[in-house]
Amino acid sequence: AKGNGGNCYYVYNKALSEKQMENLILINELRQALENNELIMFYQPIIDTVKGQVVGMEALLRWNKPEQGFISPDKFIPLAEETGLIIPIGEWVLKSVCIQNKRWIDRGYNAKRVFVNISARQFQQKDFFEKIITILNETGLDPNYLGLEITETTVVQDIKYTIEILNKLKDIGVSISIDDFGTGYSSFNYLKDMKVDGLKIDRSFIGETNNNCRKRAIAKTIILLAHQLNLTVTAEGVETKEQLEFLKENDCDYVQGYYYSKPISADEFEKFLD
Ligand code: C2E
Ligand code: CA
Ligand code: CA
Ligand code: CA
Repeated sequence: AKGNGGNCYYVYNKALSEKQMENLILINELRQALENNELIMFYQPIIDTVKGQVVGMEALLRWNKPEQGFISPDKFIPLAEETGLIIPIGEWVLKSVCIQNKRWIDRGYNAKRVFVNISARQFQQKDFFEKIITILNETGLDPNYLGLEITETTVVQDIKYTIEILNKLKDIGVSISIDDFGTGYSSFNYLKDMKVDGLKIDRSFIGETNNNCRKRAIAKTIILLAHQLNLTVTAEGVETKEQLEFLKENDCDYVQGYYYSKPISADEFEKFLD
């Protein structure tokens, strides 16, 4: 039995180092990817449930890896966060999204707000606000057409600092949403002190599986909470007409999901512009 135990330990150990090796290779390839233009932004429409119109979009990162195709950010963002590579990647993301949105506006399309996902590590940089200002100045994008999506994890790291930065962003017109709302361990106590504009209901409360009643109760409660606090609320992961109807009935302001469109390239996204 002891021999077996030893064996198991050996196997476990080996598996772990293989994973570490894989991650090491991946992180080096990711570093290259930034230089080789393998990163690209996709866009997903955000729809006003009352007007039925596209009012904005979320920018989502894709890695077009040679011979492998598109890799999901879930596969490489956590690693980029651990290694700090998220800082240069995040800057590249912000810049290319602002350039793209400015280009659409300059070409005469009605301006819409584009939302960018911001990692905790990125937001907590001491010069984050200055970096936003620089990018807005360099690209010429009106701050009223930029939004940032941050998570509860980001918010609770250094509440005083977060409040200061959120106030400054709000003052210049950048909108802030709390992403994946309801999935974290943090209480929503911070909401009373923080000037955010909207909450995004995580798609785990929208999607159809089991526990539907309970999930819907949570979604409903988040909508009520948001409205009591004068915040807008967006539901993500809306895939069916039934989900949309439920959200409409409960006064959810905006929806996003495969029911309308998957995230698509900037060129393809033009079909949603007017
Ligand atoms: P997220 O911010 O919660 O983004 C929503 C995710 O749900 C996206 O996955 C989107 O493609 C997916 N989604 C949208 N509608 C539906 C639907 O109807 N059904 C289903 N099943 N999925 C839907 P994606 O693009 O793979 O991104 C995963 C996560 O990676 C994002 O979650 C976000 O946390 C992170 N991420 C993506 N782009 C960036 C970025 O530029 N910077 C940072 N820091 N993180 C990013
Ligand atoms: Ca998001
Ligand atoms: Ca989300
Ligand atoms: Ca997420």
